[in-house]
Amino acid sequence: MKINEMIETAEKRAANAFLRVDKNALVCQERVLKAFQAHRISARHFAPTEGYGYDDVGRDALDEVFADALTAESALVRPQIANGTHAIFLALSGVLEPNDTVLSLTGTPYDTLESAVGLNGDIPNALSRFSIRFHAIPLCNDHIDFEKAGEELKKDATIRMVYLQRSRGYAWRTAMTVKQIGETIAFVRSIRSDVIVFVDNCYGEFTEEIEPTAVGADLIAGSLIKNCGGGIAPTGGYIAGRKDLIEAVSYRQTVPGCGKEIGSYAASYRPFYQGLFMAPHVVAQCLKSAILFSALFESLGLKTLPGVDNARSDIIQSVMFDTKEEMIAFMQAVQAAAPIDSFVVPEPWDMPGYTDPVIMAAGTFVQGATTELSADGPIRAPYTAYMQGALTYEHAVLAAKSVLNALIAAH
Ligand SMILES: *Cc1c(COP(=O)(O)O)cnc(C)c1O
Repeated sequence: MKINEMIETAEKRAANAFLRVDKNALVCQERVLKAFQAHRISARHFAPTEGYGYDDVGRDALDEVFADALTAESALVRPQIANGTHAIFLALSGVLEPNDTVLSLTGTPYDTLESAVGLNGDIPNALSRFSIRFHAIPLCNDHIDFEKAGEELKKDATIRMVYLQRSRGYAWRTAMTVKQIGETIAFVRSIRSDVIVFVDNCYGEFTEEIEPTAVGADLIAGSLIKNCGGGIAPTGGYIAGRKDLIEAVSYRQTVPGCGKEIGSYAASYRPFYQGLFMAPHVVAQCLKSAILFSALFESLGLKTLPGVDNARSDIIQSVMFDTKEEMIAFMQAVQAAAPIDSFVVPEPWDMPGYTDPVIMAAGTFVQGATTELSADGPIRAPYTAYMQGALTYEHAVLAAKSVLNALIAAH
């Protein structure tokens, strides 16, 4: 079959899934728009500030708009939060105290968090250094091990936080849907009503009509160069949730006692506002691109997750290649289709925070931004690549052609 025909067939196969994506985007867009209107956002909120940043209206209103957009009481949104890992670490270190235990029900956390919580040795400022334990119960066939979770919650009184990771990270699993997160929270609360439920919300925002905060999560966190930044925010992260907890986190982000009241930003806040406004639409582009690739991988006989018609709660499409060479050819084809650095040939390399060499295709406007079409994966068998993003669906179609050509040639 010719490549154009393969794409047409894949699009036909994806038609129903695309309709669901559009419907979801409309619901999210309306909530985001209302948040802007409720807080009477105007050009004055975009103005840069300097020095202490007292009375920085742009910073303060951004917190409020994000809180509403994410159905949370409060939020802390800062350009100074370097990435998603930093946002998550702030959330944990901001609310946990010595001798607390974090119980993860979704296995070990995302690779870059292992060092931060102390699972990669007792390094300075890891949570372990403050006598905060991180205990992970592995997923069992993609599902939470409720039996083990219940036992732990009953027997270990030091558990102060339950940790859930919504997205798959670098693992062959499906994302947790918000419905599943809600059911898990209800289960946790039926045993221990006092524990804080934290959700690593990276890659999940606006992929569904509601967020984990709407089903009882106390705190969520994520990156602004993923979904919530709409491909426009240049950097940053957010934490959202219960007001008292966000205040505690702000005492970690700046200083106990000062919290949210300090911190200036000498560039404009406009990209953060505009990025949030664009986010539901850009996430829809990402989802359609993932669905297209899912259909194409399926037609090539590759193992891929999620399937075209499966529920989605993150923007990632996983695919398993038979060989390392195929995986590398795929990455190079994605890179060659990028608007930026299309002439660069990606190779596996050792990255800070990751245990295996990683190969990445990221020809992005914002360095490492994964709402832009990108792919990555650790070089370890089985050769699984994770792809995500696309600022426009049309770009994904063009990248799909590049990938099909490369994979057919590599076979
Ligand atoms: C991206 C991501 C993070 C944070 O990664 P950063 O690269 O630090 O932004 C954490 N958890 C999951 C599941 C992620 O996808």
